Amino acid sequence: MLSLVEDKLGRKLDRVGGDALAPRAPFDRAAHIGVHAQKQPERNWIGIVLPVGRMSADQMRALAQVARDLGDGDIRLTVWQNLIISGVRSEDVAAAQARIEALGLSISATSIRAGLVACTGNVGCKFAASDTKRHAEEIARWCESRVALDSPINIHLTGCHHSCAQHYIGDIGLLACKVQTSEDGDAVEGYHVHVGGGFGPDAAIAPEIYRDVKAEEAPRLVERMLKAYLAHRASPQESFLAFTRRHEIAALRNLIDGEAVE
Ligand code: SF4
Repeated sequence: MLSLVEDKLGRKLDRVGGDALAPRAPFDRAAHIGVHAQKQPERNWIGIVLPVGRMSADQMRALAQVARDLGDGDIRLTVWQNLIISGVRSEDVAAAQARIEALGLSISATSIRAGLVACTGNVGCKFAASDTKRHAEEIARWCESRVALDSPINIHLTGCHHSCAQHYIGDIGLLACKVQTSEDGDAVEGYHVHVGGGFGPDAAIAPEIYRDVKAEEAPRLVERMLKAYLAHRASPQESFLAFTRRHEIAALRNLIDGEAVE
């Protein structure tokens, strides 16, 4: 094909060395959290965790002041619904951290919280079938103290099929729905659960693994999913994504359903 193209063009195409074709290094999904040195000497950027992407107006104003006083005045937003302050002098890092923590925010996150994303949910969006941010917080709080996860994971909760939180590319994706609880049509908030979605070099749409899970049962279900991964992964290096893709959905469900939780 190349030689045919070159014949057509009437010249040789440029060639690049094999090193230019090497695959990209894997994403470090928690890399945006914490203090990191910038290329510029003595300058640092600080990744701040916003619980499920939420902050109050007072926190916004105070963070803007930290960026002005101790950084270069820039604030950047991440796709994981967290926030970065850049250009902080090395001697000011401790002061910046103290001011951030005094606001009730943190610059470190568990493997579960670093990749936790939730759309606005029914607190602020008329399309939502569930209170996604509250349920995301409940899932994180429940699982953090019960599962010792040693690698980052993405859990995405989205309130409707518009999928602002992109449930279909999360390791675990929850799509809100109403779960019927009686013949009379009574219903409670809940989720269809998807697993094994990815982005970048791992791009894939997550297939559904559970339907009509009540929101109150979601924390225990996610706990079981994470515990099944830890118990049955091929090696400590196998990611949650690779583990889920190594199994058919039915086999995965068997492993998950076999995990005991409180
Ligand atoms: S995914 Fe749906 S419910 Fe959530 S913010 Fe977007 S439109 Fe609203």
